[in-house]
Amino acid sequence: MEHRDIAVIGAGPAGAAVAIQAARHGARVVVFEKGSRGRDKVCGDGLTPRAVSALNELGIALDDAHHIEGLRMIANKTERELPWPSGGRFAPHGAVWPRRRLDAHLVAAAEDAGAEVVWETEALPAFDDDGRVIGVDAGGRRWTAALTVAATGAPGAVAKMLGTNRVPGEPFGLAIRTYAESPRHADRHIEACLTLRDEHGTPVPGYGWMFPAGDGTVNIGVGALSTMKGFKKLNLNTLQDSYRSLVEKDWELGRDLEKPRAWRLPMSAQRRHGPGWVAVGDAAGLINPMNGEGIDYGLESGMLIADLFNADPASAPEQYDLLLGERFDSFLRTGRRFSFLVGHPLMLRSGLRLAVGTDAIANITLQVMGNLVDADTPGAAGRVMRVADKTLAAAEPLLRRTRAAA
Ligand SMILES: Cc1cc2nc3c(=O)[nH]c(=O)nc-3n(C[C@H](O)[C@H](O)[C@H](O)COP(=O)(O)OP(=O)(O)OC[C@H]3O[C@@H](n4cnc5c(N)ncnc54)[C@H](O)[C@@H]3O)c2cc1C
Repeated sequence: MEHRDIAVIGAGPAGAAVAIQAARHGARVVVFEKGSRGRDKVCGDGLTPRAVSALNELGIALDDAHHIEGLRMIANKTERELPWPSGGRFAPHGAVWPRRRLDAHLVAAAEDAGAEVVWETEALPAFDDDGRVIGVDAGGRRWTAALTVAATGAPGAVAKMLGTNRVPGEPFGLAIRTYAESPRHADRHIEACLTLRDEHGTPVPGYGWMFPAGDGTVNIGVGALSTMKGFKKLNLNTLQDSYRSLVEKDWELGRDLEKPRAWRLPMSAQRRHGPGWVAVGDAAGLINPMNGEGIDYGLESGMLIADLFNADPASAPEQYDLLLGERFDSFLRTGRRFSFLVGHPLMLRSGLRLAVGTDAIANITLQVMGNLVDADTPGAAGRVMRVADKTLAAAEPLLRRTRAAA
Protein backbone atom coordinates (compact mmCIF):
# COMPACT_ATOMS: atom_id res chain seq x y z
CA MET A 1 0.00 0.00 0.00
CA GLU A 2 1.22 3.51 -0.90
CA HIS A 3 0.23 6.80 0.73
CA ARG A 4 0.11 10.32 -0.75
CA ASP A 5 -1.52 13.61 0.30
CA ILE A 6 -3.53 13.85 -2.92
CA ALA A 7 -4.46 11.20 -5.50
CA VAL A 8 -5.69 12.70 -8.78
CA ILE A 9 -7.54 10.60 -11.36
CA GLY A 10 -7.04 12.07 -14.85
CA ALA A 11 -4.19 14.09 -16.38
CA GLY A 12 -6.21 16.63 -18.40
CA PRO A 13 -6.02 20.37 -17.62
CA ALA A 14 -8.11 20.02 -14.46
CA GLY A 15 -6.05 17.19 -12.95
CA ALA A 16 -2.77 18.82 -13.97
CA ALA A 17 -3.81 22.14 -12.40
CA VAL A 18 -4.47 20.39 -9.06
CA ALA A 19 -1.10 18.65 -9.27
CA ILE A 20 0.88 21.77 -10.21
CA GLN A 21 -0.62 24.00 -7.56
CA ALA A 22 -0.62 21.46 -4.72
CA ALA A 23 2.86 20.05 -5.42
CA ARG A 24 4.35 23.53 -5.61
CA HIS A 25 3.15 24.06 -2.06
CA GLY A 26 4.75 20.86 -0.86
CA ALA A 27 1.90 18.34 -1.08
CA ARG A 28 2.81 14.81 -2.19
CA VAL A 29 0.68 14.26 -5.29
CA VAL A 30 0.18 11.25 -7.54
CA VAL A 31 -1.77 11.50 -10.83
CA PHE A 32 -3.19 8.46 -12.63
CA GLU A 33 -3.93 8.63 -16.34
CA LYS A 34 -5.34 5.75 -18.32
CA GLY A 35 -4.03 7.19 -21.59
CA SER A 36 -0.37 7.08 -22.53
CA ARG A 37 2.09 9.98 -22.28
CA GLY A 38 1.38 12.45 -25.10
CA ARG A 39 -2.34 11.52 -25.17
CA ASP A 40 -4.69 13.77 -27.15
CA LYS A 41 -8.13 15.07 -26.14
CA VAL A 42 -10.87 15.86 -28.66
CA CYS A 43 -11.23 19.63 -28.32
CA GLY A 44 -11.45 22.91 -30.24
CA ASP A 45 -8.19 24.03 -28.56
CA GLY A 46 -9.58 27.56 -28.03
CA LEU A 47 -8.52 29.56 -24.98
CA THR A 48 -10.48 32.67 -23.99
CA PRO A 49 -8.73 35.54 -22.16
CA ARG A 50 -10.12 34.01 -18.97
CA ALA A 51 -8.31 30.73 -19.72
CA VAL A 52 -5.09 32.57 -20.63
CA SER A 53 -5.28 34.32 -17.26
CA ALA A 54 -5.69 30.97 -15.50
CA LEU A 55 -2.58 29.66 -17.31
CA ASN A 56 -0.71 32.83 -16.29
CA GLU A 57 -1.74 32.22 -12.70
CA LEU A 58 -0.32 28.71 -12.93
CA GLY A 59 2.92 30.15 -14.32
CA ILE A 60 2.58 28.37 -17.69
CA ALA A 61 4.40 30.26 -20.49
CA LEU A 62 2.33 30.57 -23.66
CA ASP A 63 5.27 30.73 -26.13
CA ASP A 64 4.13 27.50 -27.77
CA ALA A 65 0.52 28.71 -28.20
CA HIS A 66 -0.90 30.78 -31.08
CA HIS A 67 -2.04 34.19 -29.84
CA ILE A 68 -5.55 35.25 -30.79
CA GLU A 69 -6.72 38.85 -30.82
CA GLY A 70 -10.43 38.39 -31.19
CA LEU A 71 -13.44 36.61 -32.62
CA ARG A 72 -15.08 36.79 -36.03
CA MET A 73 -18.79 36.08 -35.55
CA ILE A 74 -20.75 35.01 -38.60
CA ALA A 75 -24.53 34.81 -38.70
CA ASN A 76 -25.91 34.30 -42.23
CA LYS A 77 -24.53 37.22 -44.20
CA THR A 78 -23.58 39.30 -41.17
CA GLU A 79 -19.93 39.17 -40.19
CA ARG A 80 -18.40 41.00 -37.25
CA GLU A 81 -14.76 40.98 -36.25
CA LEU A 82 -14.45 41.79 -32.57
CA PRO A 83 -11.34 42.28 -30.47
CA TRP A 84 -11.20 40.52 -27.10
CA PRO A 85 -12.14 43.08 -24.46
CA SER A 86 -9.18 44.78 -22.83
CA GLY A 87 -8.73 46.68 -19.59
CA GLY A 88 -10.64 44.17 -17.46
CA ARG A 89 -9.28 41.65 -15.01
CA PHE A 90 -8.46 39.07 -17.69
CA ALA A 91 -5.60 38.86 -20.22
CA PRO A 92 -6.06 41.08 -23.31
CA HIS A 93 -5.71 38.14 -25.69
CA GLY A 94 -6.85 34.57 -26.17
CA ALA A 95 -4.99 31.65 -27.77
CA VAL A 96 -5.32 28.43 -29.72
CA TRP A 97 -3.17 25.65 -28.29
CA PRO A 98 -3.63 22.12 -29.68
CA ARG A 99 -4.45 19.92 -26.72
CA ARG A 100 -1.73 17.37 -27.32
CA ARG A 101 0.80 20.18 -26.69
CA LEU A 102 -1.11 22.17 -24.07
CA ASP A 103 -1.74 19.10 -21.92
CA ALA A 104 1.87 17.94 -22.29
CA HIS A 105 3.06 21.35 -21.03
CA LEU A 106 0.72 21.17 -18.07
CA VAL A 107 1.82 17.65 -17.12
CA ALA A 108 5.49 18.65 -17.46
CA ALA A 109 4.86 21.55 -15.07
CA ALA A 110 3.22 19.15 -12.61
CA GLU A 111 6.22 16.81 -12.79
CA ASP A 112 8.63 19.74 -12.39
CA ALA A 113 6.74 20.70 -9.25
CA GLY A 114 7.31 17.19 -7.86
CA ALA A 115 4.06 15.39 -8.75
CA GLU A 116 4.30 11.80 -9.88
CA VAL A 117 2.34 10.77 -12.99
CA VAL A 118 1.41 7.13 -13.54
CA TRP A 119 0.48 6.56 -17.21
CA GLU A 120 -1.64 3.86 -18.80
CA THR A 121 -3.23 3.11 -15.46
CA GLU A 122 -6.93 3.28 -14.73
CA ALA A 123 -7.71 4.34 -11.16
CA LEU A 124 -10.98 3.89 -9.30
CA PRO A 125 -11.93 5.42 -5.96
CA ALA A 126 -11.55 3.23 -2.86
CA PHE A 127 -14.11 3.57 -0.05
CA ASP A 128 -14.07 2.71 3.65
CA ASP A 129 -17.07 1.09 5.38
CA ASP A 130 -18.66 4.51 6.00
CA GLY A 131 -18.57 5.46 2.33
CA ARG A 132 -15.63 7.84 2.71
CA VAL A 133 -13.17 7.90 -0.18
CA ILE A 134 -9.77 6.90 1.22
CA GLY A 135 -7.74 6.86 -2.00
CA VAL A 136 -7.73 4.84 -5.20
CA ASP A 137 -7.18 1.34 -6.47
CA ALA A 138 -4.83 1.45 -9.44
CA GLY A 139 -2.40 -0.89 -11.11
CA GLY A 140 -3.29 -3.71 -8.73
CA ARG A 141 -2.43 -1.64 -5.64
CA ARG A 142 -4.21 0.58 -3.14
CA TRP A 143 -2.98 4.15 -2.88
CA THR A 144 -4.41 5.90 0.19
CA ALA A 145 -4.69 9.69 0.16
CA ALA A 146 -6.10 12.44 2.38
CA LEU A 147 -7.89 13.77 -0.72
CA THR A 148 -8.91 12.05 -3.94
CA VAL A 149 -9.66 14.25 -6.93
CA ALA A 150 -11.84 13.04 -9.81
CA ALA A 151 -10.48 14.91 -12.86
CA THR A 152 -11.86 12.26 -15.18
CA GLY A 153 -13.57 14.40 -17.83
CA ALA A 154 -17.03 13.50 -19.17
CA PRO A 155 -18.82 10.94 -16.94
CA GLY A 156 -17.69 7.29 -16.95
CA ALA A 157 -17.00 4.63 -14.32
CA VAL A 158 -15.69 7.04 -11.67
CA ALA A 159 -18.73 9.34 -12.01
CA LYS A 160 -20.99 6.34 -11.45
CA MET A 161 -19.14 5.37 -8.27
CA LEU A 162 -19.11 8.90 -6.86
CA GLY A 163 -22.60 9.92 -8.02
CA THR A 164 -21.36 12.85 -10.13
CA ASN A 165 -23.30 12.05 -13.30
CA ARG A 166 -25.09 14.89 -15.03
CA VAL A 167 -28.45 16.02 -13.67
CA PRO A 168 -31.22 14.33 -15.71
CA GLY A 169 -33.13 16.87 -17.79
CA GLU A 170 -30.31 19.41 -17.76
CA PRO A 171 -28.70 20.30 -21.09
CA PHE A 172 -25.38 18.99 -22.33
CA GLY A 173 -23.44 19.30 -25.57
CA LEU A 174 -21.85 17.17 -28.25
CA ALA A 175 -19.08 18.37 -30.52
CA ILE A 176 -16.79 17.02 -33.23
CA ARG A 177 -13.52 18.25 -34.66
CA THR A 178 -10.57 17.55 -36.91
CA TYR A 179 -7.51 19.40 -38.23
CA ALA A 180 -6.75 20.55 -41.76
CA GLU A 181 -3.95 22.52 -43.38
CA SER A 182 -4.75 26.09 -44.37
CA PRO A 183 -2.68 29.07 -45.58
CA ARG A 184 -4.69 31.06 -43.02
CA HIS A 185 -3.35 29.00 -40.09
CA ALA A 186 -1.74 32.09 -38.57
CA ASP A 187 -4.87 34.29 -38.58
CA ARG A 188 -5.20 36.24 -35.37
CA HIS A 189 -8.98 35.79 -35.11
CA ILE A 190 -10.90 32.65 -34.31
CA GLU A 191 -14.11 32.29 -36.32
CA ALA A 192 -17.55 31.09 -35.21
CA CYS A 193 -20.50 30.51 -37.52
CA LEU A 194 -23.68 30.77 -35.46
CA THR A 195 -26.21 29.83 -38.12
CA LEU A 196 -25.80 26.09 -38.57
CA ARG A 197 -28.66 23.91 -39.80
CA ASP A 198 -28.96 20.14 -39.70
CA GLU A 199 -29.76 18.08 -42.81
CA HIS A 200 -33.51 18.66 -42.24
CA GLY A 201 -33.05 22.43 -42.15
CA THR A 202 -33.55 22.70 -38.37
CA PRO A 203 -31.46 25.52 -36.89
CA VAL A 204 -28.82 24.09 -34.56
CA PRO A 205 -28.15 25.84 -31.24
CA GLY A 206 -24.37 25.75 -31.28
CA TYR A 207 -21.74 26.84 -33.75
CA GLY A 208 -19.18 25.81 -36.30
CA TRP A 209 -15.61 26.97 -35.64
CA MET A 210 -12.36 27.62 -37.42
CA PHE A 211 -9.59 27.95 -34.85
CA PRO A 212 -6.23 28.74 -36.48
CA ALA A 213 -3.43 26.97 -34.59
CA GLY A 214 -0.46 28.84 -36.10
CA ASP A 215 1.36 25.60 -36.94
CA GLY A 216 0.16 25.17 -40.51
CA THR A 217 -3.21 23.79 -39.41
CA VAL A 218 -6.64 24.92 -38.29
CA ASN A 219 -8.97 23.14 -35.89
CA ILE A 220 -12.35 22.81 -37.62
CA GLY A 221 -15.42 21.57 -35.77
CA VAL A 222 -19.07 21.92 -34.86
CA GLY A 223 -20.93 21.65 -31.59
CA ALA A 224 -24.60 21.42 -30.65
CA LEU A 225 -26.71 21.67 -27.51
CA SER A 226 -29.04 18.86 -26.43
CA THR A 227 -31.95 21.32 -26.21
CA MET A 228 -32.58 21.32 -29.97
CA LYS A 229 -35.42 19.46 -31.63
CA GLY A 230 -34.16 16.18 -33.09
CA PHE A 231 -30.94 16.22 -31.04
CA LYS A 232 -30.96 12.44 -30.52
CA LYS A 233 -30.91 11.93 -34.27
CA LEU A 234 -28.44 14.70 -35.03
CA ASN A 235 -25.62 13.36 -37.19
CA LEU A 236 -22.51 15.27 -36.18
CA ASN A 237 -20.45 13.90 -39.09
CA THR A 238 -23.01 15.23 -41.56
CA LEU A 239 -23.09 18.59 -39.76
CA GLN A 240 -19.30 18.73 -39.83
CA ASP A 241 -19.27 17.94 -43.57
CA SER A 242 -21.79 20.64 -44.36
CA TYR A 243 -19.88 23.19 -42.26
CA ARG A 244 -16.65 22.20 -44.01
CA SER A 245 -18.20 22.82 -47.40
CA LEU A 246 -19.25 26.27 -46.21
CA VAL A 247 -15.75 27.36 -45.19
CA GLU A 248 -13.36 25.33 -47.31
CA LYS A 249 -13.03 27.90 -50.10
CA ASP A 250 -12.43 30.91 -47.85
CA TRP A 251 -9.88 29.01 -45.80
CA GLU A 252 -8.38 27.08 -48.75
CA LEU A 253 -8.63 23.94 -46.62
CA GLY A 254 -6.53 20.89 -47.32
CA ARG A 255 -7.87 17.40 -46.63
CA ASP A 256 -8.72 16.34 -43.07
CA LEU A 257 -5.55 15.34 -41.24
CA GLU A 258 -7.44 12.83 -39.13
CA LYS A 259 -10.91 11.34 -39.01
CA PRO A 260 -13.25 13.82 -37.26
CA ARG A 261 -13.79 12.72 -33.66
CA ALA A 262 -16.67 13.62 -31.35
CA TRP A 263 -17.03 13.80 -27.58
CA ARG A 264 -19.48 14.95 -24.89
CA LEU A 265 -19.63 18.28 -23.06
CA PRO A 266 -21.15 17.78 -19.59
CA MET A 267 -22.88 20.90 -18.23
CA SER A 268 -24.12 19.79 -14.81
CA ALA A 269 -23.23 17.30 -12.07
CA GLN A 270 -25.36 15.79 -9.33
CA ARG A 271 -22.55 16.20 -6.78
CA ARG A 272 -19.02 17.53 -6.88
CA HIS A 273 -17.71 16.70 -3.42
CA GLY A 274 -18.08 14.22 -0.58
CA PRO A 275 -16.04 12.88 2.33
CA GLY A 276 -12.45 12.59 1.16
CA TRP A 277 -13.06 13.59 -2.46
CA VAL A 278 -13.93 16.35 -4.94
CA ALA A 279 -14.60 16.48 -8.70
CA VAL A 280 -12.98 19.14 -10.90
CA GLY A 281 -13.37 20.31 -14.53
CA ASP A 282 -15.69 18.30 -16.79
CA ALA A 283 -16.11 15.69 -14.04
CA ALA A 284 -17.88 18.42 -12.05
CA GLY A 285 -20.00 19.48 -15.05
CA LEU A 286 -18.06 22.72 -15.44
CA ILE A 287 -18.58 23.62 -19.10
CA ASN A 288 -19.93 26.99 -20.15
CA PRO A 289 -23.21 26.23 -21.98
CA MET A 290 -22.95 29.51 -23.91
CA ASN A 291 -19.74 28.65 -25.74
CA GLY A 292 -18.73 25.08 -24.84
CA GLU A 293 -15.58 26.22 -23.10
CA GLY A 294 -14.27 23.95 -20.34
CA ILE A 295 -10.49 24.31 -20.17
CA ASP A 296 -10.62 27.44 -18.06
CA TYR A 297 -13.11 25.92 -15.62
CA GLY A 298 -10.91 22.86 -15.28
CA LEU A 299 -7.87 25.01 -14.51
CA GLU A 300 -9.72 27.29 -12.10
CA SER A 301 -11.44 24.48 -10.20
CA GLY A 302 -8.16 22.55 -10.01
CA MET A 303 -6.27 25.52 -8.57
CA LEU A 304 -9.09 26.23 -6.13
CA ILE A 305 -9.13 22.79 -4.52
CA ALA A 306 -5.32 22.71 -4.35
CA ASP A 307 -5.25 26.06 -2.51
CA LEU A 308 -7.96 24.95 -0.10
CA PHE A 309 -6.21 21.64 0.57
CA ASN A 310 -2.93 23.42 1.21
CA ALA A 311 -4.71 25.69 3.71
CA ASP A 312 -6.72 23.01 5.53
CA PRO A 313 -7.10 19.45 4.20
CA ALA A 314 -10.01 18.59 6.52
CA SER A 315 -12.38 21.34 5.39
CA ALA A 316 -11.20 21.47 1.76
CA PRO A 317 -13.99 19.43 0.05
CA GLU A 318 -16.84 21.39 1.65
CA GLN A 319 -15.13 24.75 1.22
CA TYR A 320 -14.45 23.87 -2.39
CA ASP A 321 -18.09 23.16 -3.16
CA LEU A 322 -19.10 26.42 -1.51
CA LEU A 323 -16.51 28.67 -3.17
CA LEU A 324 -16.85 26.99 -6.56
CA GLY A 325 -20.59 27.60 -6.32
CA GLU A 326 -20.06 31.26 -5.49
CA ARG A 327 -17.74 31.68 -8.46
CA PHE A 328 -19.62 29.75 -11.15
CA ASP A 329 -23.08 28.47 -10.23
CA SER A 330 -25.12 31.52 -11.11
CA PHE A 331 -23.35 31.99 -14.45
CA LEU A 332 -23.64 28.32 -15.38
CA ARG A 333 -27.31 28.27 -14.37
CA THR A 334 -27.96 31.28 -16.60
CA GLY A 335 -26.06 29.48 -19.36
CA ARG A 336 -28.24 26.38 -19.04
CA ARG A 337 -31.39 28.51 -19.15
CA PHE A 338 -29.98 30.24 -22.22
CA SER A 339 -29.50 26.87 -23.88
CA PHE A 340 -33.19 26.03 -23.38
CA LEU A 341 -34.04 29.40 -24.93
CA VAL A 342 -31.92 28.91 -28.04
CA GLY A 343 -33.30 25.36 -28.41
CA HIS A 344 -36.39 27.08 -29.82
CA PRO A 345 -35.72 27.83 -33.50
CA LEU A 346 -37.64 31.11 -33.42
CA MET A 347 -35.84 32.35 -30.32
CA LEU A 348 -32.53 31.26 -31.81
CA ARG A 349 -33.15 33.16 -35.05
CA SER A 350 -34.37 36.38 -33.44
CA GLY A 351 -31.79 36.14 -30.66
CA LEU A 352 -29.01 35.87 -33.20
CA ARG A 353 -30.27 38.83 -35.18
CA LEU A 354 -30.16 40.87 -31.98
CA ALA A 355 -26.84 39.45 -30.74
CA VAL A 356 -24.89 40.42 -33.85
CA GLY A 357 -27.07 43.39 -34.80
CA THR A 358 -24.43 46.05 -34.16
CA ASP A 359 -20.75 46.06 -33.17
CA ALA A 360 -21.65 47.36 -29.72
CA ILE A 361 -24.17 44.61 -29.04
CA ALA A 362 -21.94 41.93 -30.55
CA ASN A 363 -19.16 43.07 -28.21
CA ILE A 364 -21.44 42.61 -25.24
CA THR A 365 -22.48 39.18 -26.55
CA LEU A 366 -18.81 38.21 -26.76
CA GLN A 367 -18.10 39.30 -23.20
CA VAL A 368 -21.20 37.69 -21.70
CA MET A 369 -20.78 34.39 -23.54
CA GLY A 370 -17.08 34.19 -22.71
CA ASN A 371 -17.80 34.67 -18.99
CA LEU A 372 -15.64 37.76 -19.03
CA VAL A 373 -18.17 39.66 -16.91
CA ASP A 374 -19.45 38.93 -13.45
CA ALA A 375 -21.94 40.34 -10.95
CA ASP A 376 -19.63 43.30 -10.24
CA THR A 377 -18.75 44.22 -13.82
CA PRO A 378 -19.69 47.86 -14.45
CA GLY A 379 -20.95 49.17 -17.81
CA ALA A 380 -23.21 47.72 -20.47
CA ALA A 381 -21.96 44.12 -20.39
CA GLY A 382 -22.49 43.90 -16.62
CA ARG A 383 -26.00 45.35 -16.96
CA VAL A 384 -26.88 42.92 -19.77
CA MET A 385 -25.66 39.99 -17.68
CA ARG A 386 -27.74 41.07 -14.68
CA VAL A 387 -30.87 41.59 -16.82
CA ALA A 388 -30.32 38.25 -18.60
CA ASP A 389 -29.98 36.53 -15.20
CA LYS A 390 -33.28 37.92 -13.99
CA THR A 391 -35.23 37.48 -17.22
CA LEU A 392 -34.08 33.92 -17.83
CA ALA A 393 -34.79 32.99 -14.20
CA ALA A 394 -38.36 34.27 -14.58
CA ALA A 395 -38.80 32.49 -17.91
CA GLU A 396 -37.25 29.19 -16.77
CA PRO A 397 -40.46 27.25 -15.98
CA LEU A 398 -41.91 28.19 -19.37
CA LEU A 399 -38.65 27.37 -21.17
CA ARG A 400 -38.51 23.92 -19.61
CA ARG A 401 -42.19 23.22 -20.25
CA THR A 402 -41.91 24.16 -23.89
CA ARG A 403 -38.44 22.70 -24.55
CA ALA A 404 -37.99 21.46 -28.08
CA ALA A 405 -38.71 17.72 -27.99
CA ALA A 406 -35.59 15.64 -28.66
C1 LIG B 1 -15.14 18.76 -29.75
C2 LIG B 1 -14.90 19.56 -28.51
C3 LIG B 1 -14.42 20.86 -28.62
C4 LIG B 1 -14.14 21.60 -27.47
N1 LIG B 1 -13.58 22.84 -27.63
C5 LIG B 1 -13.18 23.54 -26.53
C6 LIG B 1 -12.48 24.76 -26.69
O1 LIG B 1 -12.19 25.20 -27.80
N2 LIG B 1 -12.11 25.42 -25.57
C7 LIG B 1 -12.39 24.93 -24.32
O2 LIG B 1 -12.04 25.59 -23.33
N3 LIG B 1 -13.04 23.76 -24.16
C8 LIG B 1 -13.43 23.04 -25.22
N4 LIG B 1 -14.04 21.82 -25.07
C9 LIG B 1 -14.20 21.28 -23.70
C10 LIG B 1 -12.85 20.77 -23.17
O3 LIG B 1 -12.30 19.85 -24.08
C11 LIG B 1 -13.02 20.13 -21.79
O4 LIG B 1 -13.79 21.00 -20.98
C12 LIG B 1 -11.67 19.89 -21.11
O5 LIG B 1 -10.92 18.91 -21.76
C13 LIG B 1 -11.90 19.47 -19.64
O6 LIG B 1 -10.67 19.11 -19.03
P1 LIG B 1 -10.65 18.01 -17.88
O7 LIG B 1 -9.25 17.99 -17.39
O8 LIG B 1 -11.76 18.23 -16.93
O9 LIG B 1 -10.99 16.62 -18.61
P2 LIG B 1 -10.25 15.86 -19.81
O10 LIG B 1 -9.44 16.79 -20.60
O11 LIG B 1 -11.30 15.07 -20.50
O12 LIG B 1 -9.25 14.87 -19.08
C14 LIG B 1 -9.73 13.77 -18.33
C15 LIG B 1 -8.65 12.68 -18.31
O13 LIG B 1 -9.00 11.69 -17.36
C16 LIG B 1 -8.61 10.43 -17.85
N5 LIG B 1 -9.39 9.42 -17.13
C17 LIG B 1 -10.75 9.27 -17.11
N6 LIG B 1 -11.10 8.27 -16.27
C18 LIG B 1 -9.93 7.76 -15.76
C19 LIG B 1 -9.64 6.73 -14.84
N7 LIG B 1 -10.61 6.02 -14.25
N8 LIG B 1 -8.35 6.48 -14.53
C20 LIG B 1 -7.35 7.21 -15.11
N9 LIG B 1 -7.57 8.20 -16.00
C21 LIG B 1 -8.84 8.50 -16.31
C22 LIG B 1 -8.93 10.50 -19.35
O14 LIG B 1 -8.17 9.56 -20.07
C23 LIG B 1 -8.52 11.95 -19.66
O15 LIG B 1 -7.19 12.02 -20.09
C24 LIG B 1 -14.38 21.06 -26.18
C25 LIG B 1 -14.91 19.76 -26.06
C26 LIG B 1 -15.17 19.02 -27.21
C27 LIG B 1 -15.72 17.63 -27.08
